Amino acid sequence: MAQFHADVVAHASNLTGQTPAAPRCFKCKKSGVDAGLAADAAIAWACPRCRTEGRISNWQGTLWDLRDRPLPRS
Ligand SMILES: [Zn+2]
Repeated sequence: MAQFHADVVAHASNLTGQTPAAPRCFKCKKSGVDAGLAADAAIAWACPRCRTEGRISNWQGTLWDLRDRPLPRS
């Protein structure tokens, strides 16, 4: 589970154009999850196959935070 979260953070936070492949859903293990930054800067992820979803907050500053620049504002 920790590795899954690490992979989701790496996938969702890497804005350099070299995004790692989407991690495989830890529950059904059959589909890569969709992950992205939510409005509150948490990372939200969801599995399109089994509908499992979750949020990861307070991930900034972790070992897996690959950002090297501020988030773009839209
Ligand atoms: Zn799934």
